[in-house]
Amino acid sequence: MTDFTSVTDADGVAVITWDVPQKSMNVMSTEAFALLSDLVDQALADSAVKGIVITSGKKDFAGGMDLNVIAQMRAGGAQAIFDGVMMMHKVLRKIELAGMDPKTKKGGKPIAAALPGTALGIGLELPLSTHRIFAADNPKAKIGLPEIMVGIFPGAGGTTRLSRKLGAMIAAPFLLEGKLSDPKSAKAAGLIDEVVPADELLARAKDWVLNAKDADLVKPWDDKGYKMPGGAPYHPAGFMTFVGASAMINSKTQGVYPAAKALLAAVYEGAMVPFDVALKIEARQFTSVLLNPSSSAMIRSLFINKEALDKGANRPKVADQSVKKLGVIGAGMMGAGIAYVSANAGIEVVLIDASQESADRGKAHSADLLDKGVKRGKVTPAKKEEVLARITATTDYAALAGADLIVEAVFEDVAVKAGVTKKVLAAVGPDCIFATNTSTLPITQLAHASDKPANFIGIHFFSPVDKMNLVEIIKGHETGDTAVAKALDFVRQIRKTPIVVNDARFFYANRCIIPYINEGIRMVAEGVEPALVENAAKLVGMPLGPLQLVDETSIDLGVKIAKATKAAMGDDYPDEAVDKVIFWMADQGRLGRKANAGFYTYSDKGDRLALWEGLEPKYPLDKLQPSLTDVQHRLLFAQVLEAVRALEEGVLTDIREGDVGAILGWGFAPWSGGPFSWLDILGAARAVEICRGLTAQFGPRFHAPALLREMAEKGETFYGRFGGQKQAA
Ligand code: NAD
Repeated sequence: MTDFTSVTDADGVAVITWDVPQKSMNVMSTEAFALLSDLVDQALADSAVKGIVITSGKKDFAGGMDLNVIAQMRAGGAQAIFDGVMMMHKVLRKIELAGMDPKTKKGGKPIAAALPGTALGIGLELPLSTHRIFAADNPKAKIGLPEIMVGIFPGAGGTTRLSRKLGAMIAAPFLLEGKLSDPKSAKAAGLIDEVVPADELLARAKDWVLNAKDADLVKPWDDKGYKMPGGAPYHPAGFMTFVGASAMINSKTQGVYPAAKALLAAVYEGAMVPFDVALKIEARQFTSVLLNPSSSAMIRSLFINKEALDKGANRPKVADQSVKKLGVIGAGMMGAGIAYVSANAGIEVVLIDASQESADRGKAHSADLLDKGVKRGKVTPAKKEEVLARITATTDYAALAGADLIVEAVFEDVAVKAGVTKKVLAAVGPDCIFATNTSTLPITQLAHASDKPANFIGIHFFSPVDKMNLVEIIKGHETGDTAVAKALDFVRQIRKTPIVVNDARFFYANRCIIPYINEGIRMVAEGVEPALVENAAKLVGMPLGPLQLVDETSIDLGVKIAKATKAAMGDDYPDEAVDKVIFWMADQGRLGRKANAGFYTYSDKGDRLALWEGLEPKYPLDKLQPSLTDVQHRLLFAQVLEAVRALEEGVLTDIREGDVGAILGWGFAPWSGGPFSWLDILGAARAVEICRGLTAQFGPRFHAPALLREMAEKGETFYGRFGGQKQAA
């Protein structure tokens, strides 16, 4: 084990260097923590050592804790987690107290952290335990505690130390929102102490260590009379902060994220007791969060499996297919967004539309987004010009010569798309891969326009393209491996997360989200209070209620999809009750947000105001309203049963994609880890029982799929049965 090594220089500074072999980024393991502890012991005991600098042998300091360690800790149960966390506290506390006399607080050895780049999670909690944090002036570095984003919270003293260092109010965005900062902003916020030129990093840290006084080593909370900045809970100002924080957390999380509550409890309770007791409280809260199935499901989906998909977990084994020249056909809302994210990732883009004016308008979208970046200081004017120079806006298909990937985003119409496909194929070379961004048309059918269906694929982006991180890749019946690899390599280049699914109506994401919207509208038609529908959705962790969602995506689009689906399904079409409502809404001109009128009312400026009162005369409220849980079950089961059917039918081939895709694609209750994780938390038997009740009351759309019934009988879970790995396609 050589994750940490220590070398003492001629001046007596022990430099402990973190450099995990064969990894590009340092992550902390249990063994490495023990090694760090030994090296600190040795340095503190060695009379030749005057102080310590902890740094990294890589360009960054650390990416955080190895999440597999957290999984191992969890397997040992509550006591093992608590003991493991307390062991970390002991080591970090040893660094903090640095061998000083407990009474006089004298005689400790100064310890500094020198961060060359990014320092996340334990990569900041460790420095927070030292006496001074230096960071190289590296604007690309990210410093912070992002744990909350994956359903846990900083549990190696970061929560207690940061809230005591900055006060609860100032620490809140860093702890509760996982806000990351570059070194200069981190210094301005008080997370770190000094930003120095990169080539002076070690020298400056050593210099400080050699000149530090006893008093420089004593943390404020170890000093007599320590008062929490901004006030502890019973101080009038602190009281306001904690009441406000509690309200803020509940409004943001709707109470469904256990980590946020536990974090606030650790800060609140910890603020009223001595520091070492506060660490124990932090460890207990951390233990309870780790044992909550929500945190393991979130870590699994949002971290481990998302990363596996980002790295191409299901990529066919063919040579690198990175895109060099991209053609985007259709410079509307989607095409313009696809051109922007691609050019931003360094890809040369030809953006084609039917008229030069439309093509130019599409390119102007990139200029607008880049201008916003310049205003916020995120993009330099030079970078803006560089990105714009990569986009050629034209009507001339000849400009596509040499393109290795085309993404078509013209009108959702088979004939228009076929015409465009033929024109493109006449202009590009034989190996060019052709992708369509269709959201509803079968890929296999669209591929008929190509003489090379093996090179034809679906690459389905979500709107707005620059913000939404999921890309759904759809294989037609004849799509070949090279096309899949091309799509995956493209998605990696633009730094989004891909899922690969087979061709079937609405693919995966829309297949699940449409029933969610429809169930909400169906309830309105039945006389359920619209506010109950919307709030029930939010209280179970959906980012938007179904009525708000259909307002956002537009009601006329819903009408269009309903008509097309009905035409395709004929007598089997199940959603007449929904259509009555949306067709009527469309007739009233209430087309959603874009019309400033939908299920909600909007101000002239487009701000959403309230649910539209005009619904009630048309759909009077039932005297007997359903319970919150019943409404939530309807809304969630409408989605998860579709996900299970998609798996059963082979549209989804990997439940990891089903879970990650659901959270990134349409915000499916992230606390649950996704539809399959949620069903695992609920248990297949309980799920089937709920389906039985819903079917009896509301109809066969809630009938449990055979797969779920079989799993209930056998007592299986999705992750147990499918192992989180790819199934046969
Ligand atoms: P849009 O109407 O904003 O843009 C379509 C563009 O295609 C227009 O600029 C139009 O001038 C151009 N166009 C039409 N026919 C053309 C032709 N023959 N040659 C060249 N250009 C032509 O539509 P959009 O919302 O960007 O959708 C485009 C595609 O993306 C559709 O297939 C849609 O289903 C799909 N999609 C849309 C969304 C969404 O949320 N809007 C999401 C995912 C996928």
